[in-house]
Amino acid sequence: MNAQIPIDKTSIQPAATPMMEQYHAIKAANPDSLLFYRMGDFYELFFNDAVIAAGVLGIALTKRGKHLGEDIPMCGVPMHAADDYLSKLIGRGHRVAVCDQIEDPAEAKKRGSKSVVARDVVRLVTPGTITEEKLLAPGEASYLMALGRAKGADAPFALAWIDISTGAFTVMDTTGDRLLADILRIEPRELIVPEPVFYDPELKPVFDVLGRVANPQPASQFDGAAAEGRITRYYDVATLDGFGSFSRPALSAIAGAIAYVEKTQKAERPPLARPCREDGGAAVFIDPATRGSLELTRTQSGSRDGSLIAAIDRTVTGAGARLLAERLTAPLTDANAINARLDSVSFFCAEGRLAETLRLALRDVPDLMRALTRLALHRGGPRDLGAIGSGLKAAQAIADLMNQATLPAELQAAVHGLQALPSIVADSLAAALDDSLPLLKRDGGFISKTHHAELDEMRALATESRQVIAAMERDLCEETGIRALKIRHNNVLGYYIEVSAGNSDALTNTPEAKARFIHRQTMANAMRFTTTELAGLETKIANAADRALTIELGLFDALVALVVEHAEAIRQAASALAVLDVSAALAALAASESYNRPHVDDSLDFCIEGGRHPVVEQALRRQNAPAFVMNDCDLSPEKSGQAGKIWLLTGPNMGGKSTFLRQNALITLMAQMGAFVPARSARIGVVDRLFSRVGASDDLARGRSTFMVEMVETAAILNQAGSRALVILDEIGRGTATFDGLSIAWAAVEYLHEKNRCRALFATHFHEMTALAQKLPRLANVTMRVKEWDGEVVFLHEVGKGAADRSYGVQVARLAGLPKSVVERARAVLAQLEAGATSGKATKLVDDLPLFSAALREPPKPAAVDALREAMGAINPDDLSPREALEALYRLKGLAGEKLAGEK
Ligand code: ATP
Repeated sequence: MNAQIPIDKTSIQPAATPMMEQYHAIKAANPDSLLFYRMGDFYELFFNDAVIAAGVLGIALTKRGKHLGEDIPMCGVPMHAADDYLSKLIGRGHRVAVCDQIEDPAEAKKRGSKSVVARDVVRLVTPGTITEEKLLAPGEASYLMALGRAKGADAPFALAWIDISTGAFTVMDTTGDRLLADILRIEPRELIVPEPVFYDPELKPVFDVLGRVANPQPASQFDGAAAEGRITRYYDVATLDGFGSFSRPALSAIAGAIAYVEKTQKAERPPLARPCREDGGAAVFIDPATRGSLELTRTQSGSRDGSLIAAIDRTVTGAGARLLAERLTAPLTDANAINARLDSVSFFCAEGRLAETLRLALRDVPDLMRALTRLALHRGGPRDLGAIGSGLKAAQAIADLMNQATLPAELQAAVHGLQALPSIVADSLAAALDDSLPLLKRDGGFISKTHHAELDEMRALATESRQVIAAMERDLCEETGIRALKIRHNNVLGYYIEVSAGNSDALTNTPEAKARFIHRQTMANAMRFTTTELAGLETKIANAADRALTIELGLFDALVALVVEHAEAIRQAASALAVLDVSAALAALAASESYNRPHVDDSLDFCIEGGRHPVVEQALRRQNAPAFVMNDCDLSPEKSGQAGKIWLLTGPNMGGKSTFLRQNALITLMAQMGAFVPARSARIGVVDRLFSRVGASDDLARGRSTFMVEMVETAAILNQAGSRALVILDEIGRGTATFDGLSIAWAAVEYLHEKNRCRALFATHFHEMTALAQKLPRLANVTMRVKEWDGEVVFLHEVGKGAADRSYGVQVARLAGLPKSVVERARAVLAQLEAGATSGKATKLVDDLPLFSAALREPPKPAAVDALREAMGAINPDDLSPREALEALYRLKGLAGEKLAGEK
């Protein structure tokens, strides 16, 4: 749910003053937003809104007047700092209705001294509709998403998402079972949902996961019948024919998104691109669990640090960073499109010099799209115009730079986008704008000298008059003999002559002086006067300054209109620059990290040689740890026409299984997003769905235990993975009793092999499963190698053929710092369990074991001897076959050697 503000019951009672009456009327129309009510230079909040805002913002809660006999709680934020406060409130999921004065107070006064200045909500600020630079992270998109539904359609749902700060608008059809995955891929800040859909019990689990992001809105905004009209009105076109065809749910989602933009932006119309259709199959399907476990844009704990994007992002512009993240979250499935992107990266790898020059030029390019949007919404200032001006100039220079080389298709299209820019915008801005620009247009001074004759004249007049005032001050000092006489200025009096109280006689002691120096104010130590001459000059200065500002504001509006008129060309240039940035950044990444171009085609191959985990590799380097050990992975079919392979991976704890599993998934995604990969070579037949279950987590909020979550996710994989999928499963069946877990894991592998017939990596500690290789022809056993040395295990992190015979869990527990007595005891128990298992009496032995008593009773050292003694005690010579006897002997010898080594 969105941040619902409980309606203050008292607030709907009749109000005492006309101003409070106005407040209540506006609040009643915006019950679920905090109301920022403009009073002078402050936005004030009242009643419950004030209580909430004071808590979130950490500002003082005061009171103002009474309502129905009770104090009215109030708090306020200064207008000039409103953005900071807004960002805090929005960050906490609140929505804010900004209510401004919409008439001049002088007009209100004409209606009578008690009349209230007309106010209205000029904008609803919500998490998905913000445009302010301060409220946006430069490298992250900020999506508002709308969900459309049309019963009876093939794909009954559609999602439409807008980045209002850049105008990007995309729509895709989807189905109920992949709805959540698609929403989570895009990570909207706000998802608006028709009320009937929001309250549909079948979809409750989806909205439970999304929490406050989901925001129910009246169904009328999504109305399919009215959708076309709403869309054509927004884009000011007669028909939708030129937009391509959309399904009924897609139209509903688009209309819902537009309706919400209209509702929140009131009179303003952000320049939205036409909705662009995304085909659901164009991107690799990655379910939410996989997305979370692979830590693509965020780690499981929610931070960007440690995620894949943080490791591979070398872009130098905000727009580039956003495009990179977009590509990473939606890798492609079309081999041709992937190769076109890879061609761009190859180009920059080969043209290192050009790439570096380009990256240097890009570094100075401001965020064109965000500046453009602010200008179009009348929220922009001179610096936004400056950003467009310098951005377009840089774009022209970059087009010239790139034109010197023979470009691959994707880059050529981008450079065409840059060349399509009419130079009039950049030229006009360059000619008009000063070098240093104020943030706010009302501060003036942003139009350059010599650009506008009358403006220059007014400025000269103002400057000249100031010089006249300085001369006047000098003359008056001389004339009156008061050396400390000053002409000063403040907002209340304007210009005035100030002398100390002791010196004032000279200005008041003769009738002439009295007539000339008009008394204005007496201070404790000073007196203030004016003269007709000074007042005249002041009027002249004020008029000149006013006129100058009016001229500047007029020029500002004309420049904004010019920019907005060319919005489409600017958008194209901005996305072209983002493409160049991403391609050059991926080339820079490849060069600095020694990544290589993957071979991507439509086969079912999967052959990675010398693969590395991009994030772990960098982390090890930062820690000065030994270098990452490369590993191969080959799941390619034996012959063409056959299905891909399954690798069953066994090996010790801490051996590197999870790292190996993840690295192959990440390499796949990187290849399909069009990036070079951390491998000596990689041949990948396009993967259409990626499933990865790595690590255990619970979902207590939804009433699911760790094991239940694991089973739900495993079920999803077995039910959905087709022959083109890549499945990565880590330790399935570990959260339950050993035999149940083993059986489930066993059956799952059989199913993957026989039914799903997909490429898969399956890591397990159930060593019994390695027997499956005898039965399943496409399954191969591989293991993480270790060396045992002097009783210690050394992890080699190498994947090799074959199967592990043990997990070395006890050794890892020792490394982790378990109390020595526990480790010793565990070794003893393990020895007995293994002995028992060999003789088929494991259960009885476990029952007989004095699990805690011995270790706690005895000091640690004799425990080693104990372990041996107990292991021997567990052996019943009469029950053993000759072979079992021999094995038991070896085990005891090994145990004795290990203990003695450990005690040295
Ligand atoms: P467990 O079975 O206990 O979950 P695991 O076999 O899955 O362990 P990982 O978590 O993958 O082991 O790896 C353990 C640690 O080993 C990693 O944190 C990493 O630091 C290191 N490591 C893994 N693979 C490599 C490698 N190829 N080269 C160097 N270090 C590695």
